[in-house]
Amino acid sequence: METRSVSGTGEGRHTTVRRELIRLDGGALVIDNPGMREFGILGAESGIANSYSDIIALASRCRYQDCSHTGEPGCAVLAAVHTGEISQESLDSFLKLKEEPDYQ
Ligand SMILES: [Zn+2]
Repeated sequence: METRSVSGTGEGRHTTVRRELIRLDGGALVIDNPGMREFGILGAESGIANSYSDIIALASRCRYQDCSHTGEPGCAVLAAVHTGEISQESLDSFLKLKEEPDYQ
C-alpha cells in the first residue's frame, strides 16, 4: 500500500485544478464542479464511476469527518476496500482528487 503523509493541512502535492476535467488513471474523466460539490463523471470505464460514488457515500460513514481514508480506525472506505466492495485502485485515484485543497 502506498504510504501517504496527509496528516497536515499544508502538506503534499497541491495541483491547481478547478472546474476542469480531470483524467484519472483508469481513463475516466471527472469534472470537479465547485458549485455543486459533486463529481460528475464522464466516459467512465471499468466501474470507476460506480466506485467513486460508492466511495463518496462510504466516506460519509467514516468515524471521523476529516477522515483521510488512509488508515484511520472506523474508516468505512478502507473497510469497503478490505471486503472488495471497492478497489484499491479506485481509492487511490479518489485520494488523489481529495488532495485538491478545493475539495472539502
Ligand atoms: Zn475514511
